[in-house]
Amino acid sequence: MLEKTLENKKIKPTAMRLLVLRQLVESRATISLKDLEKKFERADKVTLYRTLKTFEDKKLIHSIEDGTGSIKYALCEEGCECQPEDQHIHFHCVQCGETYCLTKSKIPQTQIPIGFKVSSASMVYKGLCVNCA
Ligand SMILES: [Zn+2]
Ligand SMILES: [Zn+2]
Ligand SMILES: [Zn+2]
Repeated sequence: MLEKTLENKKIKPTAMRLLVLRQLVESRATISLKDLEKKFERADKVTLYRTLKTFEDKKLIHSIEDGTGSIKYALCEEGCECQPEDQHIHFHCVQCGETYCLTKSKIPQTQIPIGFKVSSASMVYKGLCVNCA
């Protein structure tokens, strides 16, 4: 099933990619490169980084800047093209530090001045998650 997910996105399923994908599927919150490095202590850091980049380029995952300075990653929804109108709001818990995808809450569309071109959009709510509230 994981292999199929990769093949659908035209990503060659290598052992490392499958491991990283499993991690992303099983995680309730978003994952940073550091989290992955901790999970796969013996894996090459560059390989881990490249795996995330490949996944992101193929629109299997999206990256999130939650203001903490470390980029988080999460699986995209089915059919996501990672366009500004596909983006959802993210929630960063100030207590446990986890960042969650609020996939049901799309970023509100707003009027962009003529001549401006949007390439990405992000919105992060901060507060306490359900485990910390
Ligand atoms: Zn996406
Ligand atoms: Zn929390
Ligand atoms: Zn997300």
